[in-house]
Amino acid sequence: MARYTEAVCKLCRREGQKLFLKGDRCYTGKCSIERRAYAPGQHGAARKKTTEYSTQLRAKQTARRYYGLSESQFHKYYEMAARKTGVTGEQLLRICESRLDNVVYLLGFGSSRSEARQIVNHGHILLNGIKTDIPSVLLKAGDVVSVKDTSRTNEQFKKIIEEAAKKSVPAWLEFSRDKMEGRVLSLPERDQIGAPVEEHLIVEFYSK
Ligand code: SF4
Repeated sequence: MARYTEAVCKLCRREGQKLFLKGDRCYTGKCSIERRAYAPGQHGAARKKTTEYSTQLRAKQTARRYYGLSESQFHKYYEMAARKTGVTGEQLLRICESRLDNVVYLLGFGSSRSEARQIVNHGHILLNGIKTDIPSVLLKAGDVVSVKDTSRTNEQFKKIIEEAAKKSVPAWLEFSRDKMEGRVLSLPERDQIGAPVEEHLIVEFYSK
């Protein structure tokens, strides 16, 4: 999968808003978008003409970058969403939210979605008691996410667990600090999803 390896802050500056891709730094004065709130590049500060297409494209790119997904993966999710009943844009965001790496992030394991993805890739996470190192697995109501026993004693992971214990989780998830275990109560409603995007624009982009 093609991965974006340049400074991720440029992605926020390109989209003109915080996408929270760098963990704790995003909440400090070091956040690039607070210091340079214009697009990167030589002409980044120049005013650009917006068109209907560019607005839809930016909405799609914002959501894709917020979740750290490749174009092909995101498009696949759009097609899955379009086959479901209900509002396609909401279904698309719901699919993105239900990815294992996103749920691990929301449970507080990892300061960013990319760190949470690494935690899954490195085999620290159990899904319903079974080691699962595939970040793209889609969860459903009732699924249980926990930390592997041997990882709990790992020095580096101990810090991650300490941080997780301080964070709150969205209402569609439940987290037991004692067991270091999270449960999906239900898939999220739109108002429980923090993605800073107007999802109908993404649907319009792909519907052309
Ligand atoms: Fe985006 Fe975080 Fe970088 Fe700020 S610090 S520009 S929110 S990735």
